[in-house]
Amino acid sequence: MQAQQALTDIQFLLTEVLQAPAQWQALAPFADTDGELAAQVLDEAAKFVDNAVAPLQRVGDEVGCRFDAGAVITPPGFRDAYQAFWQGGWPALACAPEDGGQGLPAVLECVLFEWLAGANHGWTMAPGLLHGAYECIKHHASDDLKAQYLEKVATGEWLATMCLTEAHAGSDLGLVRTRGVPQPDGSARVNGSKIFISGGEHDLTDNIVHLVLARLPDAPAGTKGLSLFLVPKVLQDGTRNAVVCERIEEKMGLHGSPTCVMRFDDATGWLVGEPNKGLAAMFVMMNAARLHVGLQGIGLLEAAWQKASAYAAERRQMRAPGAKDTSLIQDHPAIRRALQTQRAWIDGGRVLAYHTALQLDVAKHSTDAGERAAAQRWCALVTPVLKAALTTEGFQGASACLQVFGGHGYVREWGIEQIVRDVRVAMIYEGTNEIQAIDLLVRKVLADGGQSLATLLTTLPGAAPSPAASARRHALVEITQTLAIAAQSDPELPYWVADDYLRAVALVLLDWAWGQISAASQEEPRWTAPAQALTQWVLPEFDMRAAILRQRIAQAFESLPKKAATA
Ligand SMILES: Cc1cc2nc3c(=O)[nH]c(=O)nc-3n(C[C@H](O)[C@H](O)[C@H](O)COP(=O)(O)OP(=O)(O)OC[C@H]3O[C@@H](n4cnc5c(N)ncnc54)[C@H](O)[C@@H]3O)c2cc1C
Repeated sequence: MQAQQALTDIQFLLTEVLQAPAQWQALAPFADTDGELAAQVLDEAAKFVDNAVAPLQRVGDEVGCRFDAGAVITPPGFRDAYQAFWQGGWPALACAPEDGGQGLPAVLECVLFEWLAGANHGWTMAPGLLHGAYECIKHHASDDLKAQYLEKVATGEWLATMCLTEAHAGSDLGLVRTRGVPQPDGSARVNGSKIFISGGEHDLTDNIVHLVLARLPDAPAGTKGLSLFLVPKVLQDGTRNAVVCERIEEKMGLHGSPTCVMRFDDATGWLVGEPNKGLAAMFVMMNAARLHVGLQGIGLLEAAWQKASAYAAERRQMRAPGAKDTSLIQDHPAIRRALQTQRAWIDGGRVLAYHTALQLDVAKHSTDAGERAAAQRWCALVTPVLKAALTTEGFQGASACLQVFGGHGYVREWGIEQIVRDVRVAMIYEGTNEIQAIDLLVRKVLADGGQSLATLLTTLPGAAPSPAASARRHALVEITQTLAIAAQSDPELPYWVADDYLRAVALVLLDWAWGQISAASQEEPRWTAPAQALTQWVLPEFDMRAAILRQRIAQAFESLPKKAATA
């Protein structure tokens, strides 16, 4: 992917559509960050991504990571690119200046990571969790731990991992068995085995900071008994800690990222945050990570789209309707439809993701309590939607882009098949997309009878909705209300329809995003074609999802008298 090719679009979305500089400049920490400075930062970021990271995409896939007696050797060029990355200050873009960061708005970091993922998903997995780890340590670790680790993680001099998953504990972290036993000196002995740990071992940095979910000896069962421990690969005195990588996984894609089985064998660690509150501390990290995973979907879809549209502009086959001679495949309506549909998701998805990143900063820094509450509501409700919808579209859209190549897409030469393989995992990690849908509907929307969602939909900022958009918003509120009532007597119902519900919310939000783009772009052809694709090929899915939801809700109501009679 060429980040520089996406730069003009993104500048337009940030400055004209979202008026991002005015939004972040209203917050004290970013008062001096004007649009010009942000443009310079993005310009340099695009050059770094294109020149240092993108060229390693192929070697990352073909050579991949190697495991050798506990050590992991990353593909040629990966270490040099990573060293240049952290020394250039890129991981610290949105960290606070007092922690060694540059103190820039979160949205700029989001754009950087979207590009990095599109350019080289495998390489980007290494720094992908850094910012979350930084926030987690900053907000939950003791002063002693902060003094040792915060700046190293903020700057990216040391990389960090998130060690949650165990062989028997994937989505269900309540089953985690790894144990942390407190020692008289304030440290803890950590014992257990974790699987699927991204970047658990590698040669990119001299130290790795593992954030590990484990149980204290007297911990209650389930998620309420999880604590968080910081376990470094190398201890402060320079000795190697008892953390061992046992093997790395052979995978469908993402060969440039080592997915490690890690054994903690009486490893020395320290509690982060309060005992048994580990999941809450980890959520700081996971929420930031979920938005970034949604952006991976966008970045990889943009990468697939760039390849497909370039190919479609060169390849000739058959005659398009009305043409006298053989046509470029980009002139066939089926190919135009495929490409424009993906742009509808990429451009609209960007507006949603960048708006969410702006809200993260408002939630953190606004002096107005009402503004902070509204921003928190947006982030809580929209983050699972973006994680699931944008990664689903990342995979399905990348597959549609592969189709543009015909058989040439299925062979390695053009690099599009790598994107399809690499992006697939984004639907699985950071909480599977099924778990995101349940998080949205059961834990967030139904928890307050749908009130937060209704408030969010009726206070969407910016241009007034079209009559069709307004009708969809009303339909969603009405469905939410009846679903909340039906779920009281049919508790299984939300779990059957959570995915349909998340898709319906995603489409309403995408429609809102395009309303903002259309208002700012004033009929420019660059934006009108995907806007039409949205209306013609994307939004009709809303009616299908609404029909499924209404049908299942009606069934729940119909079964009520029968259930009452049987009882
Ligand atoms: C390449 C890669 C990198 C990873 N990196 C990390 C990492 O750095 N750190 C880390 O800790 N983990 C990591 N993971 C693990 C990842 O987060 C888990 O794979 C994921 O959480 C799912 O767990 P599982 O694989 O055990 O699947 P399971 O939890 O067994 O789920 C199997 C299926 O059942 C569904 N399911 C489960 N429960 C429910 C439910 N209640 N309702 C509906 N459906 C349900 C799931 O959606 C899924 O479709 C990584 C995984 C991969 C593949």
